[in-house]
Amino acid sequence: MSFQVLTKSASKRLAMWTKFRSMSTVVGDMLKTDLANSRDALASSSKKGFEATKRQSVLQLARSLKSPRTDWTKEELREIYNTPLLELLHQAQLHHRDFHDPQEVQICTLLSIKTGGCTEDCKYCAQSSRYDTGLKAEKLIQLEDVVKAAVEAKENGATRFCMGAAWRDMKGRKSGIRKIGEMVKEVNKLGLETCVTLGMVDEEQAVTLKEAGLTAYNHNIDTSREHYPKVISTRTYDDRLQTIKNVQKSGLKACTGGILGLGETREDHIGFLFTLATMDSHPESLPINMLVPIRGTPMAEELTKKNSIKLEFDSVLRTVATARLVMPKSIIRLAAGRYTMKETEQFLCFMAGCNAIFSGKKMLTTMCNGWDEDKAMLEKWGLKPMKSFKKHSSNLSLV
Ligand code: SF4
Repeated sequence: MSFQVLTKSASKRLAMWTKFRSMSTVVGDMLKTDLANSRDALASSSKKGFEATKRQSVLQLARSLKSPRTDWTKEELREIYNTPLLELLHQAQLHHRDFHDPQEVQICTLLSIKTGGCTEDCKYCAQSSRYDTGLKAEKLIQLEDVVKAAVEAKENGATRFCMGAAWRDMKGRKSGIRKIGEMVKEVNKLGLETCVTLGMVDEEQAVTLKEAGLTAYNHNIDTSREHYPKVISTRTYDDRLQTIKNVQKSGLKACTGGILGLGETREDHIGFLFTLATMDSHPESLPINMLVPIRGTPMAEELTKKNSIKLEFDSVLRTVATARLVMPKSIIRLAAGRYTMKETEQFLCFMAGCNAIFSGKKMLTTMCNGWDEDKAMLEKWGLKPMKSFKKHSSNLSLV
């Protein structure tokens, strides 16, 4: 065998060996990639599994509570709010049944006792004197007109009568407070629960109203702390919280909620619920309003812009259901804007934990579903009006 032949055969073997090496490198790399992929997949699936367990545990924690908890974290609320929708609604409905009679709905009627001319700049409000909405400012109405409206509301099945005045606060309104105290006394004589909304009050004013026999004082936080400055500039979020504290300290029940559809994000819904769910004491009544844009207000104008955030119905349901799970004893009230909802949408809100409505001729300035229409709807669903003072006669956390 010549040297040349030897070299030829050696270089052939070398070429084969190199090819084999490169093939095994490719195979090895493929195996390595597969292994890495499987490891990632395993890690991601166990992460998902862990997240699912965590989600279940926050929901389960909420479901296991026998009395309201006030130290919720935003992360916990976010977790609940983002639960798959059917599961969220189902759990909220079960929780509702642990704390309330599922057949009962509180029917309230609202009356504007002093319309328009308010000095505040709430961007959505028809009653602010800063906007040209065509609303005529009026003086405080007479006692007999209030009594007449309350009698009519009672005859139509209302068990709570709410009176609203467009004022910034009650500073220097001694005679106003006295007159409203008279109204409260007269409405109470009819056996109706009473609620008023008069702007900011201090503790002394709240005590005066309590002594007149008032059941609840309405003062909303409107939205999340973060979104609030985009809606109102003439009073702070903390001013609002202070009024609610004053109300609760006086022994009055707080009726406190907000408005959805002010151009806020879903994260703002979580922030809004976080403020309510971490109050020293949850609101006895939690109104959920859906914005009815009023021509002439800055908010109505803003919402026509292309990039404005529109309220989606599933986020209304998520807000109601989360509220029901984390504030189980509160009466959740579908308030302004209900007339814009389809009956099926209202039904879903009840499934999510609502148990109160406003019914009558009008809200403060917007339309309201009428008594007859609501009676027919509730009858169809097998629901009945909640009796007055039922929720205040018992200290039991569970029904
Ligand atoms: S929402 Fe109330 S405080 Fe704000 S402008 Fe209207 S009436 Fe005044």
